[in-house]
Amino acid sequence: MDKLPVYQCALCGESIAMENDSKEHIVPLAIGGRRKVRNFICRDCNNRAGHQWDAELAKQFSWFSAVLDIKRESGTPAPKVKITTIDQQEVYLHAGGRLELTKPTFEDVALPEGGRQISFRARTEREAKRILRGLQCKYPEHDFSSMAEGLVIESTTPGVFKAEFSFGGEFAGRSIVKTAIAMAHSIGIPQWQCDYAVRYLRNENATPAFGEFLARDLIVDRPDSKIFHVVAIAGDPVHKRLFAYVEYFGLARFVVHLSLDYSGDSIQQSYAFDPTTGEEIELQVDLISLSESEHSLVLNNEAASSFEARMAAFEYAMPIVFSVVRAKQNQQAIGQALEDACIELGLHPGQELDEKTAKQLAKCLTNKLMPHLLHRIRRRH
Ligand SMILES: [Zn+2]
Repeated sequence: MDKLPVYQCALCGESIAMENDSKEHIVPLAIGGRRKVRNFICRDCNNRAGHQWDAELAKQFSWFSAVLDIKRESGTPAPKVKITTIDQQEVYLHAGGRLELTKPTFEDVALPEGGRQISFRARTEREAKRILRGLQCKYPEHDFSSMAEGLVIESTTPGVFKAEFSFGGEFAGRSIVKTAIAMAHSIGIPQWQCDYAVRYLRNENATPAFGEFLARDLIVDRPDSKIFHVVAIAGDPVHKRLFAYVEYFGLARFVVHLSLDYSGDSIQQSYAFDPTTGEEIELQVDLISLSESEHSLVLNNEAASSFEARMAAFEYAMPIVFSVVRAKQNQQAIGQALEDACIELGLHPGQELDEKTAKQLAKCLTNKLMPHLLHRIRRRH
């Protein structure tokens, strides 16, 4: 009888048995990873690496996870993220792109020519009314109650974000290397063949096995309207290299060295998927064309290269992110407006509509959609 293979934890080297095996996501769950591997790391290491490395990676991409409404496996939406707009306002970015002030703002300034200028922004109508009541107590000679009638409730306009992204670094880098080894494991490459990367993960002082790669685009048929993550593996026995390419959200692009002494088969395989839906995508990554000098750049972490290269990645990725967000918001707004209009007109699902009711519904729907449409039109200018 064949002996079952004995797996060792890629992180601590412990033998993996049924009791301490864990299901590890190839790409971390927090940024939309779906596919899992078994017999890869032990349960303790899964918890430890998950908390430290993957959490740092998730933090670096929290803006993307929130704005794209990337669902966790359990269906829980991405947590809200605090961001700052360019006019220095702190807002919460909720899953799906909704913005909310972190706290109400209030300004009460005495004007040099006498009188006062009071301005505030509240998060809800109730909060606005509470502020007005406060003002009424402070300045009883004025009538603030009439203002409560004319309150303009407007969804917070996103404006322009002060975007500060930083990718990579010690912990997030280790998460990326772990992802590359997990992908290799999933296509049957034994762990000992990933010696260079495994040594790095097990030893705090080892030379990093990864480097950012923006020197040129390694994706042959880069999609121009889809958000995707990709993990690709290449084995090149001629140059004795086993290496990987990991790209998240079109922006963070890394080459990972798995082995510098590879003697296995020639391999080229990739796994790409849309993190918002989990749908797998066919994608060709041209890893074999990486030259020896480009590999050296990666090992010395000099392949991130120019500011222009980074900007080009941003200019590619951000319009796609925003178009995906807009499409989602439109869909949500239409769904909500239709639901509200049906409730208002007392319509129920499956009901036949006569011409009069259909017209009523169309009018009601347009009214409900108006704030969303106005908001959209305003943002275009
Ligand atoms: Zn372990």
